[in-house]
Amino acid sequence: MMKKVSILVPCYNEEQSLPLLYEELIKVIDNLPDYEWEMLFVNDGSKDGTMNVLASMREKDKRVNYLDLSRNFGKENAMLAGFDFVTGDCMILMDADLQDPPTLIPDMLKEWENGYQDVYAKRRDRGKESWLRKKLSMLFYRILDHSTRFDILQNVGDFRLLDRQCIDALRRMRETERYTKGMFCWIGFNKKEVVFDRGDRKAGDSKWNFKSLFNLAIEGITSFTTAPLRFATVVGFVIAFCAFMAGLFYLVKTIIFGDQARGFTTLIVFISFFGGLQLMAIGILGEYLGRIFNEVKGRPVYLANTYNGEPVK
Ligand code: UDP
Ligand code: MG
Repeated sequence: MMKKVSILVPCYNEEQSLPLLYEELIKVIDNLPDYEWEMLFVNDGSKDGTMNVLASMREKDKRVNYLDLSRNFGKENAMLAGFDFVTGDCMILMDADLQDPPTLIPDMLKEWENGYQDVYAKRRDRGKESWLRKKLSMLFYRILDHSTRFDILQNVGDFRLLDRQCIDALRRMRETERYTKGMFCWIGFNKKEVVFDRGDRKAGDSKWNFKSLFNLAIEGITSFTTAPLRFATVVGFVIAFCAFMAGLFYLVKTIIFGDQARGFTTLIVFISFFGGLQLMAIGILGEYLGRIFNEVKGRPVYLANTYNGEPVK
């Protein structure tokens, strides 16, 4: 029996990229006739003509399927929707903007045939990104790597091939605060890398800005480790100990030399320092509390409106 390969693409305002992507995909998959192909595009509440483009793509090519979410849920959630609806024996996950080159697909399939279950694409360099963004992302990976039990892969994005077993594992992870890159590492299975050069976006604009990247970093850290909580406790303890010693010192000093009413500076410095520290610790607690709050509500991660134009029940 022919093995079925699905290609999953989350799309948010990608009317310009999709025709380009489709063309590139067709070139690759028409050269691989030993597989049955499916393309699943998840429309993540686009505000442009993405839905029309998808509908007309399916009209011409029945290998194209499209799932329309009820609103914009974000890429992480759109991916889970894709995992649920994809039907292949394996799945290749990629962005719509051709930053993930379809020409890598044959290499990925080869490794899959060799028995690897998670074939991830590793960037040789990070393309056109600012120095600060590169440094911040390095720091972020260092923190994660030191505080989790499993390997966090650097310079690896969502572009990868996943075996059916991995897809089913990911489908069981239905938390609302999603950091999918970390989940790929968490599930384990046999991993293999293929290296590529990440290009720049071919059309449209990136939907990420500095704020959303910062948010994703916080998401990544707080959804995979409670190390920041420990950090807050330790720092708080050390500071409190120092403050206690300083207090003793000043008490003895006052008893011996009398009160010279000069401690004003020290006082202000200490008060503001502790104020800041406490706020930081509370902030960290709040991050986790917010996550618990969202998880406890138990809402679905996404709502699907239509699949290939038919209402989803
Ligand atoms: N995307 C999505 N929902 C969103 C934002 C982005 O499905 O809310 C999709 C987008 O259409 C693209 C992929 O996620 O296929 C990556 O987005 P983008 O290229 O903007 O991110 P970058 O490459 O800059 O990390
Ligand atoms: Mg992109």
